[in-house]
Order: sequence, then C-alpha cells, then structure tokens
Amino acid sequence: MKRIAILGSGMAGFGAAHRLHNEGVASTMYEKRSHHGGHTTSYKYENGFVFDEGPHISFTKIERMKNLLAESVKQEYQEVSAYVNNYWKGRWIKHPAQCNLHGLPRELLMNILKDFIHALHDKTESIANYEEWLIAAFGKTFAETFPMEYTVKYHTTTASNMSTDWLGPRLYQPSLEEVLQGALYPSTPDVHYISDFRYPTYNGFISYLGMFEKQTEIKLDHALIGLDPKKKTMTFSNGSVVSYEHVISSVPLPDLIPMIQGAPKDVVEASQKLACSTAVIVSVGINRADITDAHWTYFYDRDIFFTRLSTPHMQSPNNVPSGCGSIQAECYYSPKYRPLDRKPEACIAPVIADLKKVGLLREDDMILFSDAKLVSYANVIFDLDRAASLKVVHGYLDEIGINYCGRYGEWAYIWTDESFISGEKAAQRILDRVSG
Ligand SMILES: Cc1cc2nc3c(=O)[nH]c(=O)nc-3n(C[C@H](O)[C@H](O)[C@H](O)COP(=O)(O)OP(=O)(O)OC[C@H]3O[C@@H](n4cnc5c(N)ncnc54)[C@H](O)[C@@H]3O)c2cc1C
Repeated sequence: MKRIAILGSGMAGFGAAHRLHNEGVASTMYEKRSHHGGHTTSYKYENGFVFDEGPHISFTKIERMKNLLAESVKQEYQEVSAYVNNYWKGRWIKHPAQCNLHGLPRELLMNILKDFIHALHDKTESIANYEEWLIAAFGKTFAETFPMEYTVKYHTTTASNMSTDWLGPRLYQPSLEEVLQGALYPSTPDVHYISDFRYPTYNGFISYLGMFEKQTEIKLDHALIGLDPKKKTMTFSNGSVVSYEHVISSVPLPDLIPMIQGAPKDVVEASQKLACSTAVIVSVGINRADITDAHWTYFYDRDIFFTRLSTPHMQSPNNVPSGCGSIQAECYYSPKYRPLDRKPEACIAPVIADLKKVGLLREDDMILFSDAKLVSYANVIFDLDRAASLKVVHGYLDEIGINYCGRYGEWAYIWTDESFISGEKAAQRILDRVSG
C-alpha cells in the first residue's frame, strides 16, 4: 500500500500512525506548526519550569492505553491520587459539590435540599437541553447556583443552549443519601470519576508520544491550505503540493471544510456553525510549592477571571525547579459566543490578581515565571446547532473519502486516549477498505 497521509500531529494523528505502523504500512504526518504534539505539547523553559499546553493528565481506564503510554515513557510515570475541589464565593468545596454541601449558607442549603427532593419525585418526560437536564438531576437551586454558572464560564454559552449528548460520566448523579450525608458531615467518600491519574515523570505530557514519534515520518511547518478531492492533492502553505491515495485528517472541521476544493455552500455554512471554545492558558511559576492540596479546582464566580486552575508541580515534581510550585489557569472565550477581547498576554495580570484574591498567591510570593498561550481550538461546544451541522459535514467528508479523526475531526468532547483511538479507527477504516 502507498504511504498514507496524516494531517495533524496530535494524539489522533499518532494513533493513526501507530495502527498503520503495526500493519507495516508507512505514513507521512503533516503538521502546520514547527513542533509536533498538538495539544499534548509541553514547553520546557530554561529556568526549569515545564508547562503543558493546558493541563494534561492521563486518566484513561483502558488497560491497553495505560500499557501503551507506560511503554512509551519506559515505565517512568507518576501515579497520583487526585484531589479535586471547587471555589465558590470564598469557600473551598470538595468536588463534586452536590455531594459536599456541608457549610453552605443555611437558607441556600435548605433550598438545594428541598429542590433536590422535588426533582427526585418530579420525573420529567422529555429533556430538551442541558439546563432542563441539570434541573431534573439536581433540582433548580443547585443547578442555578453551580453547574449553570460554571457552564457560562467554561462553555461560554448558557445551559439552555446546549444539548446533553456529551455528558458521559462527567456530572455525578448522587442518591438522596449521598446528598444528605454531604450536607450533614464535613467528610465524604470520593466519588469523582477521576480518582487517580498518571503523568510522565520527565519532560511533561509530550513524553507520552516518545515511542510513537518513531513510527511515522513527520513533516513540520506543513499547514494544509487546500485539498482537491478529485485530483487527490494537498497544498501546503510552504508551497508544496503532495498527492495522496488515502488521507486521515485531525484538522479542525471549520478550518478543513473551506480548504476543500468544490465543497458545497451548505457544507461550508454548516462547518462554520460548529462552535468551539478558545482558551488562554496562563502559566505561573513561584518560589514555593505549598500552594494548595488540589490537583485542579473549578471556579464558579463570574468575577474570578479564570475558570479552572491546576498545579503542574503536583503532576510531576520535575515540572519545577526544586522547592518551587506552579499554577496553570484556563480562561475561556469563543468566537461564536464570547470573542477574545484582549491579547493573551493581557490575561496574565488579571489571573495573578485573582490568584491573590482567592488566597492562593501571597503578596510576598516571588513570581519566577509567567506566560500566556492561546489555544484556538479548546473544547467543542455542544450547542443546539452542533448535531445537525455535524451530520452535514461528516456526510460530505464520507462522500469524498476523507477520514476524519480526533477531537476536532470527530468534533466531540474526547480526551487524549479517545483521540488516539479515534486515529487508530480512521486508519483501520482504510486498512479494511484496501483489504476488503
Ligand atoms: C485545556 C485542555 C485541557 C485538556 N486536558 C486533558 C487532560 O487532562 N487529559 C486528557 O486526556 N485530555 C485532555 N484534553 C483533551 C486533549 O487535549 C485532546 O483530546 C487531544 O489532545 C486531541 O488530540 P487531537 O490529535 O485530536 O487534536 P490536536 O492535539 O489539536 O491535534 C491536531 C493537530 O493538527 C494540527 N493542524 C491544525 N490545522 C492544521 C493544518 N491546516 N495543517 C496541518 N496541521 C494542522 C494542529 O497544529 C495539531 O497539531 C484537554 C484539552 C484542552 C483544550
């Protein structure tokens, strides 16, 4: 079989290359940036800090993936028990909040419990959107106080504008006993779907790609700008034109579709309706490690600049110089719902100010490092336009034989393991077609 073209060098691209490599099929990977890795890129700075492109940990439950990743880092990984919490109006609440209501203002607590009990009895027949789902699952008061507020910060749109087909295990649905126990007692069992995680011991999350880098030919600085499905050629921004027999793409669909010669107007329009958040990732290094007990924290208050915080020095101690600590803040925007209104660097000062406001940074802390990075495609937004638009786009790609994969090819809320597997499946489709 001829060499297969893979567009994009993230987890999905490497999953595809790995599957082909296992069958003895050669592939060439084209990546627009001057380094490979996509979202799993890690940046190692001269001062000894290591930051990923947004916090990345591996919490896959799939044994095969666990083994593959462990093999890729030659068994050098950290195994960490996760502690996760929430910050709401000056209080730190163990995650998930619905099971840890102890200590909330009494009137609020009363209303949450009352509504939760009502919701248990009030079985809604049909759920039209995420807001209705939240109210049915947790009752009105909890839904409005916590997840609906978080939705606006994280997904940049309201829960009433979102579907529910992305939830999976993400939102824990407790029993009445669990809610009551959490309301009455300060300590509760751990029920979060991520109880532990793994992270490479050295050089950040990108180390997980170590073994796979050798399984394909990687061509950097190759940004796809045009694709002719009839002539089967790809044009890159560096001027090169390459013909392909089979192509696998992890390029985000809203970018890919307008590049395809002859793409019908309705397909292009549908691709532009697909919504995704943009993240500004602010990384901060400081001169002490005892910042927090939490591996990550969700922030609900709209007047706090960031949505989620994580602590890279608690993923691997080698992510910081000895004795130091690090924080990564995620701040969310989206072209469709909340356009970025400043340069990424302009997010650093408000993040630092709010880290002080919530008490994680002290006035006497020395900030040894700070940086802001823009992640143009962060989380797919499951708004009410998504399903119909995606059907049109995927239908067209199937018709012209472009094998899409990954978070932004499938246009789904999938993690690194699922993206890798999505790439493997795209490769398998080609292998099946050729052999069948
Ligand atoms: C802030 C954040 C935190 C996350 N945390 C976790 C976590 O803790 N654990 C976890 O498992 N998952 C996490 N994820 C999800 C994870 O990042 C993705 O599931 C996975 O990395 C997606 O891989 P991918 O290959 O599909 O996409 P990407 O990694 O985006 O790869 C796509 C590649 O295509 C390239 N490309 C784009 N356009 C072109 C073009 N025109 N020509 C050529 N190349 C192009 C891009 O440069 C990129 O390298 C997180 C995601 C975000 C945004």
